[in-house]
Amino acid sequence: MHIDSRPDLLNYSRAQLVELLAQWGQPAFRAKQIYRQLHVNLAASPEEMTDLPKSLRDRLAAETRIGSLVCSAVHEGDGGLTRKALFKLADGSPVESVLMVYPDRATVCVSSQSGCPMACVFCATGKLGFLHDLTPGQIVEQVYWAARLLRAPSFDIHRLTNAVFMGMGEPFNNYANWRAAVDILHDPDGFNMGARSFTVSTVGLVPGIRKLAEDELPINLAISLHAPEDDLRTAMMPVNKRYPIRDLLSAVRDYTEKTGRRVSFEYVLLQEKNDSPDQADLLGRLLRESGIRTTLMHVNLIPWNPVPGTPLGRSHRRRVLAFQEGLHAHGIPCTVRVERGVEIGAACGQLAGTS
Ligand code: SF4
Repeated sequence: MHIDSRPDLLNYSRAQLVELLAQWGQPAFRAKQIYRQLHVNLAASPEEMTDLPKSLRDRLAAETRIGSLVCSAVHEGDGGLTRKALFKLADGSPVESVLMVYPDRATVCVSSQSGCPMACVFCATGKLGFLHDLTPGQIVEQVYWAARLLRAPSFDIHRLTNAVFMGMGEPFNNYANWRAAVDILHDPDGFNMGARSFTVSTVGLVPGIRKLAEDELPINLAISLHAPEDDLRTAMMPVNKRYPIRDLLSAVRDYTEKTGRRVSFEYVLLQEKNDSPDQADLLGRLLRESGIRTTLMHVNLIPWNPVPGTPLGRSHRRRVLAFQEGLHAHGIPCTVRVERGVEIGAACGQLAGTS
């Protein structure tokens, strides 16, 4: 296997790029030009950086690279409005990203790890186990894949409006790299994505939630809850042994109190497992009594998407609606998620690293 050891420019912050160019004896404005090319023009190779002298372009090509993911397949669904990319790392480990285009917005769902150590039973990625933490550059690169696709004239919208960290992996398990990627994407002199455009989804890692509460950047937070009581949640999500529901909700309550920001709870509905009217009632009571203001929470109900090889079933539509009713009876704001990409294995919990 050939390993490319050249550093990935997408990993560099603005300051680090200035430092690299200084080591090369280049003035600071060259770093600024390269940074603009990388993060505003989304240049995929030094050749595209035509405002640089040829000698500098050649040196960049010889000693650095832009991106380290190899795209091995792109699948289209929903009449071309959903695209799923399968990338490979140098050792062949999979990374998947999904672009979803709507009339008024375009969202990319990004992976933060290859595989995932969390082993949630309903999730295809969990079955791969943990393979790698992604670097900041590899997280950024997935976003730029989507942003470049959106330039095609066939789309009505050409600007990426949202990046959700809900692909493969648990972002808070790779916190530093995930957060460094957000800094790069958010930089007003670079890609300039607004803080509110980001949503990070966690399985419920309490230290990560507490850390995000201290963060100045108002990134949206989504919590995968999926069950209203501990035994069931532990059976579905082993992480619940470490951070049971009570600890999780108290961290979320502290987060909302400190930040004043609204959180969403994700609840995947599995037929006759976690979708009964009694469980809706239990969940409604749990959230109402959690101390989190109902104006600062929202429940997303996600009808489960088929994952081959699991004995789980998808909730019938009427059970989904009854569940929603049950939460509304407690005054909990709640919607049923509109699904995308089911037929190409790009929907929530389906990312399995297979083409
Ligand atoms: S649902 Fe998320 S946290 Fe759980 S195994 Fe899948 S990727 Fe990991």
